[in-house]
Amino acid sequence: MSELPPPPSIADGAATDDVVAWVAEHLGDLTREGADGVTAGAIRGGQSAADTALAGLDITGYARDRSTVLPVNRRGASRMSPYIRHGLLTLREVWDAVADAPSRDRSRYRDELMWQEYARHLYARVGTDLGRSLRREQPRPQGWTAQPWPEEMNCMSSVVGELHEDGWLVNQTRMWLASQWAVRAGATWRDGEDEMFAHLLDGSRAANRLGWQWTVGTGSGKVYGFSRWQVNKRAQSLCRNCALKDACPIENWPDDDLGPAVDGPDLNKAPIPAGPVHVEGTGAEQVWITAESLGTADPALAAQPDRPAVFVFDEPLLRKLRLSGKRLVFLTETLGEIASTRPLEVRRGRVADELSGRALATTWAPVPGFSRIADAVAPVELHPWPWLVRPTTSSVRSFSAWRRSH
Ligand SMILES: Cc1cc2nc3c(=O)[nH]c(=O)nc-3n(C[C@H](O)[C@H](O)[C@H](O)COP(=O)(O)OP(=O)(O)OC[C@H]3O[C@@H](n4cnc5c(N)ncnc54)[C@H](O)[C@@H]3O)c2cc1C
Repeated sequence: MSELPPPPSIADGAATDDVVAWVAEHLGDLTREGADGVTAGAIRGGQSAADTALAGLDITGYARDRSTVLPVNRRGASRMSPYIRHGLLTLREVWDAVADAPSRDRSRYRDELMWQEYARHLYARVGTDLGRSLRREQPRPQGWTAQPWPEEMNCMSSVVGELHEDGWLVNQTRMWLASQWAVRAGATWRDGEDEMFAHLLDGSRAANRLGWQWTVGTGSGKVYGFSRWQVNKRAQSLCRNCALKDACPIENWPDDDLGPAVDGPDLNKAPIPAGPVHVEGTGAEQVWITAESLGTADPALAAQPDRPAVFVFDEPLLRKLRLSGKRLVFLTETLGEIASTRPLEVRRGRVADELSGRALATTWAPVPGFSRIADAVAPVELHPWPWLVRPTTSSVRSFSAWRRSH
């Protein structure tokens, strides 16, 4: 059991380097890079950074530019995902913030927010089964002998470099990586998913597994092929400057054969677990905040603005996942800011042990890890999750089938 010293707060004048040093010292042994290799990613954590990003959100041109990869200044992506992932911004807040955008852009953008909500519903419904192929085996082409993401291919090394340095990618290049890994190279999609997840600031099992399963065809029943064509269309300079430009190994489309059907979880119409509708219980002395719900609008935090809070870095989980230090820097920046507004205890260890014997309030979260730990911790006050659309009984077989019920 261990309580960590208070994380530095950027709101109180600390610099990102101070946060990096704090993570290196207290959590560095749990990171992929090790204590000496911890760096910050490209998107700053903390509620004020999230609020600033939301205030500046302008999605004019989104429908046209969403898939642009290069040049960087032509990208239409909004980079909201780490804030959405960790609950600094709710989907509802982001949805409302684009109310005045041009209608085509607004409707495309809101459609993507609904994809995020679908990922959450799907994960709430199938839980850890989202880590198994849902409907089909993946393609297993023969003949690719290089690494799944070869260094010599400029499109791969540039995108993997961005993933490692920034911890964030546009949707288009996430699809390139997933397709190249599994559909072209025939490597196991779960390994690629882990590899990507470890580096993403917005990494969530819900959206990452959905993204992989829908790209490689195991969830959608349709394979997304990646070839030189997309690179030429979305990021021409990568091809022009590639050592393999006259011997491109992805000149042609890959086979799009699906693997055999699998006996996966039931995706047909059935109830989706949604947590409580109203606050259940009372009398908590402290709020347990989770990585799903770190915003000031988190229902359990917002219920009493000066109630002390506690956050636990889940040591066994982090030891197993070996996340990049960038994600821990993002989380620590966020915690530092919370600590400047109310008493916050930050701990490292087994979550249930660290929290045992406390009278806790918390917000329900649509992930299997929450239910597992909450069963052990038994919070006395449980707050509802801020759904964009509250789950009902619906099919989760496909986005369009799910959307028909919402
Ligand atoms: C292989 C693969 C892996 C992915 N892994 C993740 C992940 O771990 N975490 C994650 O949040 N998203 C993931 N996505 C979805 C999507 O790529 C990112 O949400 C998006 O690129 C984030 O950038 P943005 O905020 O600029 O998105 P924008 O295009 O500006 O969209 C706004 C918001 O809509 C949501 N959104 C957009 N596209 C999708 C989508 N296809 N699926 C679900 N939600 C979407 C996100 O919350 C995003 O922040 C993945 C997609 C693929 C194909």
